[in-house]
Amino acid sequence: MSTSTTNTVDAVDAIVVGAGFAGMYMLHCLRELGLSARVIEAGSGVGGTWYWNRYPGARCDVESMQYSYSFSDKLDQDWEWSEKYSPQPEILAYANHVADRYDLRRDIQFNTRVTEATFNEAANRWIVATDQGDRIDAQFCIMAVGCLSAANRPPFDGLDDFQGPVHHTGEWPHDDVDFTGLDVAVIGTGSSAIQAIPIIAAQAKSLTVFQRTPSYTVPAWNEKMDPEYERDIKEDYPAFRAKARARPTGFYFPFNMESALDATPAEREHQYEEAWARGGLPFLGSYGDLLFETDANDTIADFARTKIRAVVDDPATADLLCPDNVFGCKRLCVDTNYYQTYNQPHVTLVDVSENPIERFTTTGVVTNGIDYKVDTAVFATGFAAMTGSFDKIKITGRDGLTLAEKWRAGPRTYLGLSTVGFPNLFMITGPGSPSVLANMIPSIEQHVDWMVDCMGHMRDVGAATIEPTLTYEDDWVKHVNEVAQVSLRSTCSSWYVGANIPGRPRVFMPYIGGFPIYVNKCNEVMTNNLEGFILKGAAKTTTAPRTRWTERWRVPLDMDIISPAAIAAKRVPVV
Ligand code: FAD
Ligand code: NAP
Repeated sequence: MSTSTTNTVDAVDAIVVGAGFAGMYMLHCLRELGLSARVIEAGSGVGGTWYWNRYPGARCDVESMQYSYSFSDKLDQDWEWSEKYSPQPEILAYANHVADRYDLRRDIQFNTRVTEATFNEAANRWIVATDQGDRIDAQFCIMAVGCLSAANRPPFDGLDDFQGPVHHTGEWPHDDVDFTGLDVAVIGTGSSAIQAIPIIAAQAKSLTVFQRTPSYTVPAWNEKMDPEYERDIKEDYPAFRAKARARPTGFYFPFNMESALDATPAEREHQYEEAWARGGLPFLGSYGDLLFETDANDTIADFARTKIRAVVDDPATADLLCPDNVFGCKRLCVDTNYYQTYNQPHVTLVDVSENPIERFTTTGVVTNGIDYKVDTAVFATGFAAMTGSFDKIKITGRDGLTLAEKWRAGPRTYLGLSTVGFPNLFMITGPGSPSVLANMIPSIEQHVDWMVDCMGHMRDVGAATIEPTLTYEDDWVKHVNEVAQVSLRSTCSSWYVGANIPGRPRVFMPYIGGFPIYVNKCNEVMTNNLEGFILKGAAKTTTAPRTRWTERWRVPLDMDIISPAAIAAKRVPVV
């Protein structure tokens, strides 16, 4: 059980917002660096995503052996995952284990939301205010607020009048929600819905799924952890982690660099069948050009549609479930018995692509003039991704500039780590970094390690503030956009571009150039004396930055596959 600390702290070296995997690791490292820190967390426990997303079926879709911290081999050796893809309670238990093991909770203030963060230019310090009345003064303000942590609750007309419970997957109650004997609506068909629907269907009297856009999903073929597989990895976990880091996605899986278009139809069929049989996100690694060439993508999309039609009995329902957009353009989903669920007589799929949900009544959901009677509704409607949790905090930098104003037309950062006008404000997996396009835990660790070396260096040279220069930020934003254009991923209306929520600017937010290239760029910036940043107040400017933490992220670009040439040749399977 988590305990909560509610002491108001007046001054610390660093304030960290959020106690998910990012905030937890940041706290651990700040302590190692010898800085005092306070973490503020809105929830009552650690774990972030895995604290909030308690919906039935929630589990990771990056294999558990890779979806975990890598900073301690002892931790890696001690922890045992029970399944190939761990369920949410086990990932939350892991987060709690880490919090206990490193005694993190004594510096985390739970049940507290940061509402404002203001840079005091005279003092070169941040003043952070919370909804509990705290005012905390810190040299560094570190946003560990999460990329998928601001739930999107569409404001449907009549929702307040609806008599039944409404649960968002990303803000799921802590008590068990029992759907037995109930008529249930699920709105949305993204990753969360696809995990929850088969389990809700098994309980409910009836299930009506409201689908605006069908998703592509690949079977997980989840299974109990194979002890031999686990033993093999644990024999040399660091080597396995190193292989993973050399992948564009930051996790390891077999893939093929060939072009789908160079293969014959029979060869492709064979390749796709084999990859489908392995299942999960690595299916996108069937060929190297799937996210670059429309013709290549058509081949995998056709294959996936054939799979859907082979499972779903009713041809009209199968038609509705078949996406007609680029395969893998939106985040690929991973499922267990998703399509099979639609063969059950009490499950109905309602298409709201042409006729959106009009309103809720006291007892139902109305679309296309039909009132679907339901007792309860599940919003699997996703998140204001990447920037949503920043938007909820009034962040004011130099000269009274707010982050909301600066990012009105889309987020702008240098390396996804920091942004001009906001000295000493760091963001973990911020927009402009690989973040959600890579295995998130290494993405988090790499960012934290970089920041810790940076803060250590600032202490060494006596610098008061660090801030990127506008030129470097502009160049990075340009680069992020250019690289995105190369990928078919930039072409569809996904949450990667903010298009899932009306009114958000359309900008491809994560960095799609691949994890190792990004990591090497960060390392280069560090070793080039924090190139692109201005350090103010530094007494000893000639001291080279320390690389105690960042060193472990050095990826030889010739390792295994990934190189800038591969990107130029459009042969980089990405997930
Ligand atoms: P979060 O875990 O989102 O934590 C952020 C924390 O900040 C939250 O606890 C929140 O309460 C807190 N917070 C935010 N704003 C404030 C504020 N103003 N004041 C106080 N506290 C605040 N990634 C993968 O790589 N593989 C997966 O398999 C995978 N599966 C996922 C499944 C689901 C259902 C979801 C939603 C995401 C998944 N992700 C996955 C992405 C996942 O978000 C990351 O892997 C990772 O958990 C993010 O950690 P984080 O600490 O950066 O952010
Ligand atoms: P999502 O992928 O954004 O899906 C939200 C769904 O709600 C979409 O189908 C969307 O339709 C629909 N929707 C939104 N507003 C709607 C409206 N007004 N009317 C009707 N439908 C509406 O969100 P998510 O499923 O929560 O997943 C978000 C991300 O979290 C994933 O992409 C993934 O990165 C991560 N995740 C991972 C896992 C995992 O397997 N490990 C599980 C869950 C989540 P449109 O597509 O038309 O917008």
